[in-house]
Amino acid sequence: MPIYEYVCLDCKNEFETIRSMKDADKPTECEKCGGLHVKRKLAVIYAMSGGHAVSGTSNSCNCGSCRGGNCAGCGS
Ligand SMILES: [Zn+2]
Repeated sequence: MPIYEYVCLDCKNEFETIRSMKDADKPTECEKCGGLHVKRKLAVIYAMSGGHAVSGTSNSCNCGSCRGGNCAGCGS
């Protein structure tokens, strides 16, 4: 399960949450102030790699954690 980093735009609190990839884009709330103005940063740690690209398009990335751009896992 990937660990996602979030930052609260209200109180600037940064926190990490383990979520499944399908839940990554769902809204979350700040664990400090409970605000909903939370911005997701790049996922920083992957405990498991499926080895499959998540999109149907072909790309050179095989890290399984990105859609072929702006990937923190493989740098592409
Ligand atoms: Zn907050």
